[in-house]
Amino acid sequence: MLTIHCHRCSRPHLVGTRSIVSMHHTSEGPVAYVRCPEGHLTLQEFGREAAAAPEPGPTVSLTADTHVAA
Ligand SMILES: [Zn+2]
Repeated sequence: MLTIHCHRCSRPHLVGTRSIVSMHHTSEGPVAYVRCPEGHLTLQEFGREAAAAPEPGPTVSLTADTHVAA
């Protein structure tokens, strides 16, 4: 499932992967042509979304809890 924003309907839709018409790899990341439930073809860009997402923080170190009992 993925959320798309249809500019013709002016609202987001939750659609399944079967709504993906085609996917293409571009220099700016993958893009997909997705058909909204009303039948409009929308262009979904994944690269910009991923680039705009904040970087995940560093993993928590567990060394403080891993003392070996002597
Ligand atoms: Zn639509």
